[in-house]
Amino acid sequence: MSSVYPSRKSPPPAMASITPPVTPKLANAHASKPKADEEPADMNIPDNYVTYTLKHQKPLPPITWDNWTTELNWLNVGILGLTPIIGIVSACFTPLRWETAVWAVIYYYLTGLGITAGYHRLWAHRSYNASKPLQYILALLGAGAVEGSIKWWARGHRAHHRYTDTDLDPYNAHRGLLWSHIGWMIVKPRRKPGVADVSDLTKSEIVRWQHRHYLTLIFIMAFVVPTIIPGLGWGDWKGGYVYAGLLRLVFVHHSTFCVNSLAHWLGETPFDDKHSPRDHLVTALVTIGEGYHNFHHQFPMDYRNAIKWYQYDPTKWFIWVCKKAGLASHLKVFPDNEVRKGQLTMQLKRLRETQDKLSWPEDNSHLPVINWESYLQQAQSRPLICVAGFIHDVGDFLDEHPGGRHLLTKNIGKDATTAFFGGVYDHSNAAHNLLAMKRVGVLHGGAPHGLEDKSIPPSQRLRIAQYNEMGGSGYSSAAWSDGEGLMG
Ligand SMILES: [Zn+2]
Ligand SMILES: [Zn+2]
Repeated sequence: MSSVYPSRKSPPPAMASITPPVTPKLANAHASKPKADEEPADMNIPDNYVTYTLKHQKPLPPITWDNWTTELNWLNVGILGLTPIIGIVSACFTPLRWETAVWAVIYYYLTGLGITAGYHRLWAHRSYNASKPLQYILALLGAGAVEGSIKWWARGHRAHHRYTDTDLDPYNAHRGLLWSHIGWMIVKPRRKPGVADVSDLTKSEIVRWQHRHYLTLIFIMAFVVPTIIPGLGWGDWKGGYVYAGLLRLVFVHHSTFCVNSLAHWLGETPFDDKHSPRDHLVTALVTIGEGYHNFHHQFPMDYRNAIKWYQYDPTKWFIWVCKKAGLASHLKVFPDNEVRKGQLTMQLKRLRETQDKLSWPEDNSHLPVINWESYLQQAQSRPLICVAGFIHDVGDFLDEHPGGRHLLTKNIGKDATTAFFGGVYDHSNAAHNLLAMKRVGVLHGGAPHGLEDKSIPPSQRLRIAQYNEMGGSGYSSAAWSDGEGLMG
């Protein structure tokens, strides 16, 4: 160990036994900003980064009545609080013209796509390549959504994916719906977000240009453009400002915030249930298609969120159209085979839960093995019937037998295998399943009947088993190595 960690000072005592110590060099990697943009921020990340940082980096104190005035991010409170208030009050004194309403909806989608297709799928996840004109358009539209610069946004979002559901995720869904929706912006961050590399973005001239001129760009794109088009187009300057500027901005904000809140709270987990992201149509509808978030967290570099043609993902369609128009290329798609593995795993998991809720026949190894004479003797005092090498007690079934009591009683103390499997009546799968529930013993030497279709009830021929339950399956060597395997 000493050669691996040559400059180790005294490790934190509590950590020493469970995690490797952190070298001073590694500690510095997240204590200070990387000097050069060229070096990835996570180049020297230690193996124990997450557990160590969560344990040793002190978060800011909780918000209380005593400290809230100094702990709020007043700039964000102003943007997120005043915009809806001014917008709603102004709307009360501003008639809505239909042309302006249509323009406001269009501009909502355009600036929303700036975030979903631009900030999110292009820059944060690199899920496709965009030509320069498209990048400039998306950078401008994204500025119109007033959610910070590409660089700042993508850095937080990459930390969100990397440290999902931990306190290194800036919008950790485990801190509640309100926190992940808006709380994380209106209070000062309680912790620095986990390390996430954005050196690829800092090399991009368009990302740098947007970052440099960000304030000018939000003024133009969030307020001037939405006002000027209705103003010059149909003389509705004030309506443009109020509906396509202010209120449209409120909708874009809360629509995209829902990706962090609603998409980690509402819906199903068809691909993986390890973390909080979920798939739901409602979330997709309010987020321009970002509602298939369970898929997205599993396959973040896929340009799609929705993989079925009928699911609502306009952002995917937009990127696809851009490709057809020659503005985008290299749309990344995760191999369908791997996507379906995730789905199958979750389906099996749910089926296993159903399987575990049902009652199953006694395990063969728990049943007593008796010989034919003993069987005959015991059948004198109990209604025992032998079928396919198993002894069954049919005492509670005599009056329930659909074929009548007499067909059971005449087979007590006999081998009814042939009669059960078609000789008298070719019993249903349900009957075979039920019969197996009445097993009380195994007939010694009854193996000749032990063909799978007779000895294994239909409901158990296809079972879901954990890898460690499959003795001798290749995962466990015990059954083979000690010479007492399946053939023993
Ligand atoms: Zn997420
Ligand atoms: Zn994402």
